[in-house]
Amino acid sequence: MTKKGEMLYAWTNDAEIQKKAELGGAVTALWKYALESKMVDAVLVVTKGVDLYDAKPVIVTDPKDLAKTAGSLHCGTLLLPKLVKKYLDGAEDKKIGVTVKGCDMMGFYELAKRKQINLDNIIMIGVNCGGSVSPVIARKMIAEKYGVDPEKVHKEEIDKGQFIIEFEGGHKGISVDELEEAGFGRRSNCRRCKLKIPRQADLACGNWGVIGEKAGKATFVEVCSEKGANLMAGAIKKGILETAPANPKGLEIRAKIEGAMLKLGDKWRKHDFEALGEGKDRLQKIMAETSRCIKCYGCIDQCPICYCVDCTTKNPAYVAPGELPVSFMFHLIRYAHIADSCVNCGQCEEVCPAEIPNALFMHAQQVELEKMFGHVPGVSMELPLLAFAEEKTERGRLHNTGSDMIYENVFNPFVKK
Ligand SMILES: Cc1cc2nc3c(=O)[nH]c(=O)nc-3n(C[C@H](O)[C@H](O)[C@H](O)COP(=O)(O)OP(=O)(O)OC[C@H]3O[C@@H](n4cnc5c(N)ncnc54)[C@H](O)[C@@H]3O)c2cc1C
Ligand code: SF4
Ligand code: SF4
Ligand code: SF4
Repeated sequence: MTKKGEMLYAWTNDAEIQKKAELGGAVTALWKYALESKMVDAVLVVTKGVDLYDAKPVIVTDPKDLAKTAGSLHCGTLLLPKLVKKYLDGAEDKKIGVTVKGCDMMGFYELAKRKQINLDNIIMIGVNCGGSVSPVIARKMIAEKYGVDPEKVHKEEIDKGQFIIEFEGGHKGISVDELEEAGFGRRSNCRRCKLKIPRQADLACGNWGVIGEKAGKATFVEVCSEKGANLMAGAIKKGILETAPANPKGLEIRAKIEGAMLKLGDKWRKHDFEALGEGKDRLQKIMAETSRCIKCYGCIDQCPICYCVDCTTKNPAYVAPGELPVSFMFHLIRYAHIADSCVNCGQCEEVCPAEIPNALFMHAQQVELEKMFGHVPGVSMELPLLAFAEEKTERGRLHNTGSDMIYENVFNPFVKK
């Protein structure tokens, strides 16, 4: 019987899934079992649209349609939880299975906290994520850095720190570090991301740690919940999934890679946040960038934290209608409402037609708020800061200023000897 906490190599013997799967096809085989056994009513996955730069979300209800959704799309920068809220009634009365990256998973928790998603009805199969690349940047990068026509590429992957493409007549890999130094590579929020193995999903699947003869042919699975254990057990019993205990050396390697990725995330945070400057310079920079905003509301529409029926940015008492450039208040409203819970998913930056680094500004604030209040967004059902104020901690915070007002020592709390 599969148990929570187990680490396994898993692969499917379904030939059709094997053909398209990224690794062992465990993810797709598990969804096939989940649909066939009616554990879920529908599965939400990401699949190739017109080409490999076009990652398209699809709802699958017929298990026969699943095989073609296998495979990882590194240009799939989309976020899934808000689609469940908008188009699937927040999974209120349907059981839905979703393949999630770290940021998708965090978005689900944040929407669940705000009662926009019924997490009891969701099964999440997580995939480790080293990062995703915006489709437009990927095309440009392939043309300029690889000297290859982006239309001729039929497969891309990120492996051992390289972005590798296969195209008619060859393959070529360039290190992600080199690409990023040249201004290409992963999205900037992905560089700062530290959710590499989504352990708050029901299963966390990936490549890291699969060594020996199974390398590239099996999926590494960490069983993260009872729901995940049941799903695995059912699929194994049904004969669609085979497993073997993970190689202990593989476990070590996986932990090392994760550690290195977290360090790299810290390095990019330092780099990006320092580049914002300090004090008034920082404020001027943010005000200048955001003054390009054309009020399309794309950032609000995509953000997994924004759930209000009527956004305060649409209230004429705060932001004058029809006025451009928009008052800074527009962006201040977003910072005030979102910064404590931003999961750094990058959507607000990705969709912005004015190319404002929205996610960078919000993430820089979130990281400081996390240090101040200890609230980590996206990884549990712990309520947002302003939704849950505890008397004891409030008193403690005031006490730590060494004062009876919140004017001084807020950023360098006084500690009583
Ligand atoms: C952007 C990205 C980066 C990744 N980086 C790493 C990494 O650095 N290290 C590592 O160990 N593993 C990484 N993975 C996970 C790995 O590539 C495999 O997806 C995973 O191990 C499952 O393999 P499989 O053969 O069982 O999956 P398959 O059976 O092939 O199924 C893959 C599943 O992923 C879904 N999917 C594909 N693209 C996306 C997307 N962009 N967003 C959400 N879901 C998607 C598919 O719809 C399908 O359900 C990454 C995955 C993605 C999508
Ligand atoms: S934000 Fe993190 S989890 Fe999401 S795509 Fe980027 S690296 Fe992956
Ligand atoms: S503010 Fe931007 S990066 Fe943060 S959660 Fe919202 S959309 Fe994602
Ligand atoms: S997406 Fe960009 S232009 Fe549109 S409202 Fe947000 S910041 Fe303004």
